[in-house]
Amino acid sequence: MSKADSCCKVGRVAEEYDLSPGLSDETLDEQLKYRWLGSEEYPEMSHRTLVDWLHKHLLRTRYTEHGRSTLEPHLESDYEAIKDAESDNHHAVLSDLETDGIDGEKLLDDFVSPATMYRHLTECLDVEKRRKQQSDATSDRNKLEYVESTAEMYISDLLSSWENKGKVPHASDADTTVRIYLECPECAKQTNIRTVQQQGYVCEDHMLAQSEHST
Ligand SMILES: [Zn+2]
Ligand SMILES: [Zn+2]
Repeated sequence: MSKADSCCKVGRVAEEYDLSPGLSDETLDEQLKYRWLGSEEYPEMSHRTLVDWLHKHLLRTRYTEHGRSTLEPHLESDYEAIKDAESDNHHAVLSDLETDGIDGEKLLDDFVSPATMYRHLTECLDVEKRRKQQSDATSDRNKLEYVESTAEMYISDLLSSWENKGKVPHASDADTTVRIYLECPECAKQTNIRTVQQQGYVCEDHMLAQSEHST
């Protein structure tokens, strides 16, 4: 297989780190696909969980090369500190990595966003996540996740284009969080759609207990 052009950042990083998924013969892309779909006896993972899975894989690969411990609790706490630049331990862990000859900033640079992972799965690998028979709650949650991921994907395209045109420098470095709010037509109170799902109403003053009117 030609290694000349990688499909996207996920492909590039996988090649650069020469990621192999361990004992099995499966390629990394096969593993990503199976894990996302929850097929071939893998538990189903969301694309966000797959991002963490991939990143820890990067860490494990570099750590092994540099003789740093890859014990799960150690790796996990390093990972949390590396990915969160605000974390108290961020700089401590980066300089500790440096003593082992590992460039933590570079690792962080190579991390991919959930939107990139989603695009790699759906566009590069052309995987379609079929809706299985699910409970209503799961299916609603998946629809919401789908809408949010798609929005994140389009927004990240937009940000890249702003950055490329010089409109907004470093726009693509920004973290994007898509939150959907529903607004009460009466008083314009806004409530997060996930909160609405949990509490069962948009506005407690104007959109509650509709059944009282109909009885
Ligand atoms: Zn890709
Ligand atoms: Zn209201």
